[in-house]
Amino acid sequence: MRTKVVAGNWKMNKTLPEALQLTAELLTRLENHQVKNIEVVIIPPFPYLIPVSEKIQSSVLRLGAQNCSEHPWGAYTGEVSAPMLKSVGVQYVIIGHSERRQYFGEEGTKLAQKVDAVLANQLHPIFCCGEPLIVRGDGRHFDLVKLQIEEALFHLPAEALLKTIIAYEPVWAIGTGKTATPEQAQEMHAFIREQLTLKYGAAVAQQVRILYGGSVNAGNAKALFACADVDGGLVGGASLKAGEFFEIIQAAAQ
Ligand code: PEP
Repeated sequence: MRTKVVAGNWKMNKTLPEALQLTAELLTRLENHQVKNIEVVIIPPFPYLIPVSEKIQSSVLRLGAQNCSEHPWGAYTGEVSAPMLKSVGVQYVIIGHSERRQYFGEEGTKLAQKVDAVLANQLHPIFCCGEPLIVRGDGRHFDLVKLQIEEALFHLPAEALLKTIIAYEPVWAIGTGKTATPEQAQEMHAFIREQLTLKYGAAVAQQVRILYGGSVNAGNAKALFACADVDGGLVGGASLKAGEFFEIIQAAAQ
């Protein structure tokens, strides 16, 4: 039985007071309604990691970061490394988000190195894969997703893969309000798990959590999370509202 994960990617949003208010509102809901058997991760911008970390101490919330360098230290102005994130209480790091791929040219070997950096610091990568609309239109979406996971993950030993969470995020569904249907999500998640099975065997593949991301909201979460191979969600826009994010958490906890 895989524990479901709901992770809220705040992207480049909120001021510090707003971020703390969102955290407080979420904590209040979580204290008032027990949610069980679920990992809930909030992923604020870098400057808010320490204050948010202090606020969620001894709560069920876990802390994630949106990116990290492949290097541990050194002359890389503007970068933040996995050891730094670890030292401020981060437990999960998003790697290969489509916005990093699209706007910052991240792909292939670089993403594999980032995954390694995260794992070397006992953190959990949330590795994102997914196809743009044109690729789906051409029927090449399975090939692309296969390539993305092969390039970034298939060098890992099984123990490391088991610490990794995969997020399938079709690019055409991110921030667009267009969600994959539960059938489309399940089809790709089953395909990803099949690739993991071929490489690592069924015992390992059955334990890896595969999240769906792309315009998840309070209205569609339940149907998506009910799919056999969908183990929760990576949520962008809807994670910026405590009430809606909490409804998504509840949908996963059912
Ligand atoms: C994301 O940022 O990973 C995401 C899925 O965003 P949204 O939920 O807004 O589509």
